[in-house]
Amino acid sequence: MARKKLIAGNWKMNCLLAEGIDLAKNVAGGVKAMGKAQCEFLVCPPFTLLSSVKKALRGAKVALGAQDCHMAENGAHTGDISPVMLKDLGCTYVILGHSERRADHGESDELICQKAEAAHKAELKAVICIGETLAQREAGQAVEVCRKQILGSVPADSTANNTVIAYEPVWAIGTGKVPTTDDVEEVHAAVRKVLAQKLGKATANKMRILYGGSVKPSNAKELLSLPDVDGALIGGASLKAEDFVAIAKNSGC
Ligand code: PEP
Repeated sequence: MARKKLIAGNWKMNCLLAEGIDLAKNVAGGVKAMGKAQCEFLVCPPFTLLSSVKKALRGAKVALGAQDCHMAENGAHTGDISPVMLKDLGCTYVILGHSERRADHGESDELICQKAEAAHKAELKAVICIGETLAQREAGQAVEVCRKQILGSVPADSTANNTVIAYEPVWAIGTGKVPTTDDVEEVHAAVRKVLAQKLGKATANKMRILYGGSVKPSNAKELLSLPDVDGALIGGASLKAEDFVAIAKNSGC
């Protein structure tokens, strides 16, 4: 089953207006220069930049996504942003359940599941993040933690069209540490099995499972050529357009 790789950048809480526009233009230029790429591209800037980045990406095959959303359509939720608002700005994706939100905002699997359902309702694709902490990995619990997170945070209405899973070991995010390729493939294969139990084999075989955690141009090839790795969610390296594009090129996009 051929799954089109997704190369996704999570800009996190970075970039003021001019920097963000510059970065988006450079990503757009780099992707255009690749010609007919085999991969899909996505950038997820902070909320403040979504409109400007949308304009800067005009004409480029780079999708726009947000880094979170609320589960309600509108109403009394000061400071929050709804999926419909994101759709209205031109987003097609939203990252949900990133480990930084799970840690900083106490987001539970249940909440993430509700957000994902709301995102689907607004016709956004949800990139649902899962991953174990270092203590959990050292205790041999990586697969079990991911299994529980999938069962709890992936809604029953998920399809390969409206959902992408991102496996991001918490200890690999922003640290320069990366699991062995055997460890990555073990978790990805296990995640696909759990998805098959939950959503059916056909959906699981089509659904993309990204790897995230210290992906850079030099390790992209070995990580993204693993059979169950269908792209990357990239933090730090997505803030440099040439690294972001080099990751795609090195992954055979
Ligand atoms: C992330 O936070 O989604 C991420 C993968 O970060 P980094 O690439 O910097 O490890």
